[in-house]
Amino acid sequence: MRILYRSDAPRAAAWARYFAEHAPDIDFRVWPDAGKLDEIEYLIAWQAPRELLAAMPRVKVLFSSGAGIDHVDFSAVPAHIPIVRMVEPGIINGMVEYVSLAVLALHRDFFDYVAAKAARTWNALEVPPASARTIGVMGMGVLGRAVLERLATYGFRLRGWNRSLRHMKGVESFAGAEQLQPFLEGCDVLICLLPLTPATKGILNRELFAALPSGAALINVGRGPHLVDTDLIDALDSGRLSRAILDVTDPEPLAPEHPFWTHPRVFLTPHVASMTQPETAAPILLENLRRHQRGEQLLGVVDRSRGY
Ligand code: NAP
Repeated sequence: MRILYRSDAPRAAAWARYFAEHAPDIDFRVWPDAGKLDEIEYLIAWQAPRELLAAMPRVKVLFSSGAGIDHVDFSAVPAHIPIVRMVEPGIINGMVEYVSLAVLALHRDFFDYVAAKAARTWNALEVPPASARTIGVMGMGVLGRAVLERLATYGFRLRGWNRSLRHMKGVESFAGAEQLQPFLEGCDVLICLLPLTPATKGILNRELFAALPSGAALINVGRGPHLVDTDLIDALDSGRLSRAILDVTDPEPLAPEHPFWTHPRVFLTPHVASMTQPETAAPILLENLRRHQRGEQLLGVVDRSRGY
């Protein structure tokens, strides 16, 4: 079995080590030392350009090295090649950590205290219990559900909104476009964990912000194009929204002159909420390869018609 890894270079060595140790029967190649491309049977990549795939006629499966799949041009991937996204504990744990940190920082007014310290102001703010705040998650997929489960342990009131109705203990569930408004009406903190599709592009916009309680906060850990930037700036400047924590922007990196850099109510991180961890991802990928060899169903296959 011949595999080509063509993704995050700094972590390539860890992937290669894992395969050398646990699957010596597999010829695991790391880009650019790909050897003959027409020998490659499985491709692990962030992006799979048309020309590259055309040079690899034997490829049976395309494994995306990330959880999101919007960066892949489906039309460049022949229909008989399944596209598999990365669902692995390292990505899930990273996202749960990041969102917990962001929600708790908002809940405990950490951003206000950063400003207060700069102004040498000693001013204790009220500390409402977690049960006084409602946190809403858009997208109750692998990551959204893991985040909701962890937030439940702090005692927040929880809501989730999803395409199809998903029931979770302790979470008020909403589904579909018609239930978006009632979902939003109760969210003090809104978290976007949607995949980027034509249906979700630009969903974080003026109309959506208007449906949130006044002073709500936004955490976007989905994708930059979910957000209409100018609508967010207006909502923050008018006080409709209190703060935004953005891990993703459009484009990435964000242009140096973009107003998010200097806006006092925007906290930015450079798409680091969670990352594929070779130590936890390689065993999952190996299991998927073995499944494919045995003719079993692959885990994490993308539904091309839905776009995620
Ligand atoms: P997932 O398991 O595929 O879940 C996606 C969820 O979104 C599903 O529950 C789906 O509903 C729901 N959904 C899709 N379209 C919708 C729509 N139009 N309206 C309402 N709900 C909709 O994906 P995941 O693993 O949780 O990942 C979610 C996203 O997180 C990724 O696509 C990526 O963009 C982002 N991400 C960001 C980072 C980062 O570092 N910032 C890292 C990893 C992932 P159904 O249940 O009905 O299908």
